[in-house]
Amino acid sequence: MIDSHCHLDFNQFDSDREQILNTCLSLGVEGVLIPSTTLQSFSKVLDLAQCYPMIRSALGLHPYFLKGKVDIETSLRELERLLTLRSVVAVGEIGLDLWPGCCDIDKQVEIFERQLMLAKSFDLPVILHARKSEDLLLRSIKKLKFCGGGVVHAFNGSQAQANRFLDFGFVLGIGGTVTYERAKKARRVLASLPDSAYVLETDSPDMPLSGFQGEANMPYRVLDVARCVSEIRNQSLDEIAVITTQNLIRTLPNW
Ligand SMILES: [Zn+2]
Repeated sequence: MIDSHCHLDFNQFDSDREQILNTCLSLGVEGVLIPSTTLQSFSKVLDLAQCYPMIRSALGLHPYFLKGKVDIETSLRELERLLTLRSVVAVGEIGLDLWPGCCDIDKQVEIFERQLMLAKSFDLPVILHARKSEDLLLRSIKKLKFCGGGVVHAFNGSQAQANRFLDFGFVLGIGGTVTYERAKKARRVLASLPDSAYVLETDSPDMPLSGFQGEANMPYRVLDVARCVSEIRNQSLDEIAVITTQNLIRTLPNW
């Protein structure tokens, strides 16, 4: 099984990262993808992927962290330089965030589209951050004729939006949200997806699972996500593990 999205580079994991990775391995979680968030995180994410064979990395500028004093031009130049030099599985985490307090949406769209073009020129898929922004993301993807696909991280959109992302070659990241009984829409969408349409993730340390609120999320809890998915979709845990691993490797061929 693979956790297709966790921020294990965050400083809060510095003291027990290795132990967390060992726990993952002992429980059968054999891979984790760490997407970067800012220019400052690039080198750490790359170093972790080099240090630990089970880690893969993605490089990109996360929309939530674009507020304040961010030197966009330097960040994008460095992103391009590193994509030329180093092997990553995707450009990400990139996208659009309509949460109050995030930076101006026009600026977000511009930076997102520039990164989408970079992904296109390097022939890489993308890891998408979508918060209330699914239609806007789809508009940019269509406008720029981006065909590289990727993962829509923590997908929480409608059935219609799910179908459009699938048509563009994306898979949907399924995480802690579906562990909450009240997440009726997310559970309904998950139940209806074809086997080829989704991957598993935790977004550690964020998005705690039901029963773990208030604690830092951990990549090995992807197993609990999988258990919940197996109930909702009426499939065995083994089947879920095989299907989602295949889906991820197909979507991110550099894995
Ligand atoms: Zn993330």
